[in-house]
Amino acid sequence: MQIILADHAGYCFGVDRAIDLALETINNFSEDTNIYSLGPLIHNKQVVAHLKNLGLEVIEEISNEGKGKIIIRAHGVPYEIQQNAEKKGFEVVDTTCPYVKSVHNRVKNYQEKGYKIVIIGDSNHPEVIGINGWCNNEAEIINNIEYANSLDEYEKICVVSQTTNTKEKFETLSEIIKDKGKEVKIFNTICNATKLRQDACKDVAQKVDAMVVIGGLHSSNTNKLAEVARNYCSNVYHIETIEDLPLQEVLKFNTIGVTAGASTPDVIIKEVIDTMKNSNNNIDDQEMLEAIENSFVSIHRGDVVKGEVITVTNNEVMVNINYKSDGIVSKGELSNDQDINPKSLYKEGDTVEVYVINLDDGEGNVLLSIKKVDNIKNWEKLEEIYENNGVIECKVTDIVKGGVIGLVNEINGFIPASHLSTNYVKDLSNYNGKVFNVKIIDFDKEKNRIILSRKNVELEELEKKRESLWESLEINKTISGEVKRLTNFGAFVDLGGVDGLIHISDLSWSRINHPSDILKEGEEVKVIVQDFNKEKNRISLGYKQKYPKPWDVFIENNKVGDIVEGIVVNLLDFGAFIQLKEGVDGLVHVSQISNEHVHKPKDVLSKGDKVKVKIIDIGEEERISLSIKEAIQKDIEDKGKYNDENEEPEVTIGDMIKDKE
Ligand code: SF4
Repeated sequence: MQIILADHAGYCFGVDRAIDLALETINNFSEDTNIYSLGPLIHNKQVVAHLKNLGLEVIEEISNEGKGKIIIRAHGVPYEIQQNAEKKGFEVVDTTCPYVKSVHNRVKNYQEKGYKIVIIGDSNHPEVIGINGWCNNEAEIINNIEYANSLDEYEKICVVSQTTNTKEKFETLSEIIKDKGKEVKIFNTICNATKLRQDACKDVAQKVDAMVVIGGLHSSNTNKLAEVARNYCSNVYHIETIEDLPLQEVLKFNTIGVTAGASTPDVIIKEVIDTMKNSNNNIDDQEMLEAIENSFVSIHRGDVVKGEVITVTNNEVMVNINYKSDGIVSKGELSNDQDINPKSLYKEGDTVEVYVINLDDGEGNVLLSIKKVDNIKNWEKLEEIYENNGVIECKVTDIVKGGVIGLVNEINGFIPASHLSTNYVKDLSNYNGKVFNVKIIDFDKEKNRIILSRKNVELEELEKKRESLWESLEINKTISGEVKRLTNFGAFVDLGGVDGLIHISDLSWSRINHPSDILKEGEEVKVIVQDFNKEKNRISLGYKQKYPKPWDVFIENNKVGDIVEGIVVNLLDFGAFIQLKEGVDGLVHVSQISNEHVHKPKDVLSKGDKVKVKIIDIGEEERISLSIKEAIQKDIEDKGKYNDENEEPEVTIGDMIKDKE
């Protein structure tokens, strides 16, 4: 008879840690300190009884105020229970497994972001009850296809799993749930220890005639393990201890596989194997020794462990991982850079984290990888960035159909062409080798898939720029922008993600036909904020306001009685408009043109004539009254002062009009 013990059988990291913490608590406190465990610390009666002998009392609830310590077990508890224990005066020793804790944090975080939390798991299991307690007990707990199909639709859904679920169940149910929301985030939170144990169980179950699964009959992870075993082997025995095993029946099989749930101590596994071995004289002692030896190492394939560098050569690094044989990290497993010399990276005595590829390379060496540890950390880092909607630097390494490949944190992601920029990208090749920031818009570690977007970063930056622009706006403030578009009624200016309008009347102090008389598209301009309204997304800008108002300048330098020159710009029946300066016009009433009768101004004046005029009034609303005849009179008077007294001074309209010819 051959006995094969599956890898990863027995205590998982979380249970091991919980028991260590409990023992540490028991050992560090005097006998008169009350130490309680809220529910059995693990699903194993023998271990619970042993801990009770040491002083750990199991209670089901915290009913009274009291003193002492309360140990929260590896499954974790709802948030309010933990708080309640503290309120009632107990000191809490939290042994919640870090993997479970991370699910607590995730559901809390996503619920706060408005997601409906869905837990794939057993609603009666303490771990699931605990997880639900970290999202206000408002999660939907789904354990079968019917319930998944009947789930209501939500805007945003966050799906997590009980850590001990089978991968198949999680994938089947999440496939249904993914269509129940517009935005569905699915997190496979099945614990790696569970997965490795289930995979190892499947491997062994396929090879043997019978499987013995050891663990509590109420232990969820052991029941799932038995379920996996039954899928691949028709003779499965789920037992808690050797007493439950029908020995005579089992011993008739040639090959027997053994695995155990996360709460099963090594001593119980050993007892089962020893009993089967001793009951069957045909068992090869050597084979059994090997089985036992292999089974009780604390290192397994796929584990990440710490070790100390013993030697470094040009091709490999030898690491002591406290295993019966030392581990080797070949050059190819050190880094992605194949030209690197191991000696430039590590030296004797360095502490390193290594991934266990293989426990025996055929020559008794353990094969390790540092690259894989980095890879795991890189994925974890990317997952964190994805969950927090963060930004990460990306370098484009290849152009492919429909987009480009971007390297983020040493991992390849895909940027669809539509996500390269907020603008349409015609030629992808321009992006080769470019480095820029991206967001992760889709992340699936299982499928090795990361989708990136540079466009989303640009949109966010644009939004921030817009926000800060709106905040910085003040009436009369001078700001810069680029002329985007000219229309008949004005010029649109891009102020940095938001457009403002200079109305045609605000472009120049004088009359213009079209904004292109003053500005051209693409020109950088300084403009003055006239008005703005964020709700209506409207900003009115002024351009002419940068310059002094011609009217103000004119009246500062001229007064009633002054003779000034101007140009006839318009002729109407009641008078002639004279431009005195750019933007300053005055009116010569028809009666003020000559001492002689003038029927219509156009009889004696033409547009473009330069004339001397006297300012006879400066009125409100920028009105100036002018007189040509009074200017003539003044000229006559001035000339009279210098001419011979006998000579009659002669000044006519013609004299007052220059360039008449
Ligand atoms: S099965 Fe995994 S999640 Fe559960 S206690 Fe063990 S290590 Fe933690």
